[in-house]
Amino acid sequence: MNLPPLREVIAAHGLSASKKLGQNFLFDEQLLDRIAAIPGDLQDRAVLEIGPGPGGLTRALLRAGARVTAIEMDQRCLPALEELAQAFPGQLTVIEGDALKIDHAQLMGEPFAVVANLPYNVGTALFVRWLGGEQWPPVWTSLTLMFQQEVAQRIVSQPGGSAYGRLAVLAQWRSKAKLAMKVHRSAFTPPPKVMSAIVHIEPAQAPAGVSSRRLEQVTEAAFGQRRKMLRQSLKGLPGAVDVLDELGIDSTRRAETLAVEEFIAIARALGPL
Ligand code: SAM
Repeated sequence: MNLPPLREVIAAHGLSASKKLGQNFLFDEQLLDRIAAIPGDLQDRAVLEIGPGPGGLTRALLRAGARVTAIEMDQRCLPALEELAQAFPGQLTVIEGDALKIDHAQLMGEPFAVVANLPYNVGTALFVRWLGGEQWPPVWTSLTLMFQQEVAQRIVSQPGGSAYGRLAVLAQWRSKAKLAMKVHRSAFTPPPKVMSAIVHIEPAQAPAGVSSRRLEQVTEAAFGQRRKMLRQSLKGLPGAVDVLDELGIDSTRRAETLAVEEFIAIARALGPL
C-alpha cells in the first residue's frame, strides 16, 4: 500500500498537534507496526481505536488486516482519516466524537480488541470504565493502551511498593496485565515530558462471588489512607475490620502489603453492595 509519509499528511491537512487535546503523534511506521502486533494476529478482527489523530497507528492496524472503528474528537483529523478509509476499502469506519460519551459495546456490536494512544486523563478514565463493571467476561477481548510509564508501572505493579494501589488491583483481579513495550519520549511529535509504555491486558476468569463495586469500595478505602493500618483505613466500612479477623489478615498491616487475592477475599466476605 503506497501511502504518503505521515509527516506529509500532517502538513497537507494542517494538523499541528494541539496541547489541549493531548496530542503527541507517532510517525515511525516500524514502531507503529510493532505496537499493532502486540494484540496478536489482527487479520479480520474487530478493533476499536480511540484517538487515531492523523492515523499513524490506524495505518498499522489496517496493514495488519484489522477491521478498525476509530473514534476521534478532533474534526481536523477527519479528512486524513477519510483518505485512509479509501486506501483500505471496507476496513475503516471513523466516528467523530468523544469516546467518553459513546457506548463502545453498542457501537461495535461484536467482541473487539481495543488499541489506543490517548491523553493521560482520557486513557485512565476509559481504563477504569473498561475494567470496572459487573459484566465479565467483558465485551472487549484485549486492551492495548499507551500510558505514561509511571502509570503503566502502577498498573502492573506487585504488592510491597509505592506503585501498588487501586489501578493494580483493578487491572489484575480478573485480568492478566503486562507491560508490553516502553516507548521513548523522542518517538513522539512533539515529545512529551515523560517516558511512555504500553500495557496489554487480557480478561481472565473472574473469582466467584465477588462484586466489582464491593472490591472497588474496599480498595478505595484501603488505599485512600495507604499509610494507615487497615484497622484504621477500613474503619468506615461496616464489618470490614471483623472480616480481617475472620480471614486471619493482620489488621495492623497496610494496604500496599495485601496481595490481590487478599483484597478479593475481603470483598467476597463483605458480600455484594
Ligand atoms: N493515535 C495517534 C498517534 O498515535 O499518533 C494520536 C495520539 S494523540 C496522543 C491522542 C489523540 O486522541 C488525539 O488525536 C486527540 O484528538 C484524541 N482524543 C483526545 N481525547 C479524546 C476523546 N475523549 N475521544 C476521542 N479522541 C480523543
